[in-house]
Amino acid sequence: MTETVATSALAEELGPQLRGDVIGREDPRYDDARKVYNGMIDKRPLAIAQCRDQADVIAAVKFGAKQGLDVAVRGAGHNGAGLGTVDDGLVIDLSPMRWTRVDAAARTVTAGGGSQLGDIDHAAGGFGLAVPVGILSTTGIGLALGGGVGYLSRKYGLTIDNILSADVVLADGSAVRASEDENEDLFWAIRGGGGNFGVVTSLTLRAYEQPTMIWGPTFWPLERSAEILSWYREFLPAQADDLNGFFAFLTVPPGPPFPEELHMKKMCGVVWSFTGDPADADEALKPVRETEPVLDAVMAVPVSAANAAFDELYPAGDQWYWRGDYFAQIPDEAVALHAEFGEQLPTWKSTMHLYPSDGAASRVAEDATPWAYRESKWTAVYAGVDPDPANAEAIRKWTVAYQEALHPYSMGGSYINFIGTEEGQDRVQATYGSNYERLAKIKAKYDPDNFFHVNQNIRPAS
Ligand SMILES: Cc1cc2nc3c(=O)[nH]c(=O)nc-3n(C[C@H](O)[C@H](O)[C@H](O)COP(=O)(O)OP(=O)(O)OC[C@H]3O[C@@H](n4cnc5c(N)ncnc54)[C@H](O)[C@@H]3O)c2cc1C
Repeated sequence: MTETVATSALAEELGPQLRGDVIGREDPRYDDARKVYNGMIDKRPLAIAQCRDQADVIAAVKFGAKQGLDVAVRGAGHNGAGLGTVDDGLVIDLSPMRWTRVDAAARTVTAGGGSQLGDIDHAAGGFGLAVPVGILSTTGIGLALGGGVGYLSRKYGLTIDNILSADVVLADGSAVRASEDENEDLFWAIRGGGGNFGVVTSLTLRAYEQPTMIWGPTFWPLERSAEILSWYREFLPAQADDLNGFFAFLTVPPGPPFPEELHMKKMCGVVWSFTGDPADADEALKPVRETEPVLDAVMAVPVSAANAAFDELYPAGDQWYWRGDYFAQIPDEAVALHAEFGEQLPTWKSTMHLYPSDGAASRVAEDATPWAYRESKWTAVYAGVDPDPANAEAIRKWTVAYQEALHPYSMGGSYINFIGTEEGQDRVQATYGSNYERLAKIKAKYDPDNFFHVNQNIRPAS
């Protein structure tokens, strides 16, 4: 397919079929429309099809297949490896499909395929409900298809554990429903298999009565990081599911609500969330306070506010280089390495998070969904972040060195949503472990030609 043929076909053939816009390279909106969250990703698709509804998606899929184009599917474009876009291909951009519907009696939230997590939080919150999602409100549905770790994982499981059904446009342009009763194999596969099986145009999720939680960070001086991490690795797994807290190395942001004397200080911290009876929160957090953190900003907040608290710190356009690992334990040698790399945070926005993936998230059979690391206690992300492209190499070097140093203490694979660029196919296979073969067979059934390959790719079984 030459660019000329594809470009003219895009304008003449695809454009009129869609209610949404098809933005080609000549369009003044092109540079904005091709941007994804990670400023390090600079891809130039032939066009971006801004789909407004399922019919638009069907037309775009059929067109992409007919023209033999590389097709990327974009939700909110947050993927660290930039999988929501593609050079010289077609982007099926779901961002106009941001809508939600709550069934309060059934405690479910249905969200359009381009919805952001904040849309789900907001919709559910209006009914005093919450859905377990991630810790930034601007992330998209791609999170839900890969796993979904967040503040509510220990209590209610991963996001994939709370998917009840999905509407999916398949590679042949047909539209199907996947649930426990319909296309069960597809339903199994989309709960962790990412965008490999089709375009999810809407998703119905289970919600819980959880209007608020006791949430917020405690910080300690960096010099105490080995001591605090050693305490944390024992403390949290022994607590009831009501308490969650992700450990982090961080630099205190230079503004409110943080006290001025801490601004721009490298520290270690835990961001806590307590989902039990608020009256019990002080008791649950008593051992935390006994460690004498220098900052204690734990307070009652709506779940949606907690999930949006870091949005401002991490706006779209920063450079991101990241990798992940699963951990079942954090031995002393690993604690020492964490402390060493925590001291070397290359830029003030760079960070490392240990997201708890035990509790309810671990009480699911390893083959119940594609997520193969139910025995993990933490899902780690090493994230080099900076607004300035001049620091791209520095954040890359730190992230790679950190992950390579800690990887020998990990369980082997990586959370599919945290796999970065340049990590390769072996890493995808390791991530799915014993579930890979089943995924490959389902891929062969629903997408035998690997039409959906701009993703952490599962190759169709031959
Ligand atoms: C700042 C930041 C914070 C994050 N926090 C968390 C967190 O707390 N917990 C967590 O688990 N993860 C977190 N993530 C990781 C996140 O889960 C992934 O980046 C995920 O890929 C984002 O989904 P998206 O829809 O925004 O991505 P996009 O870049 O739009 O898409 C990524 C991939 O998902 C597929 N995809 C997206 N939507 C659809 C759809 N509707 N149908 C079919 N395929 C689709 C695409 O094909 C593509 O391969 C975070 C990421 C960032 C950048």
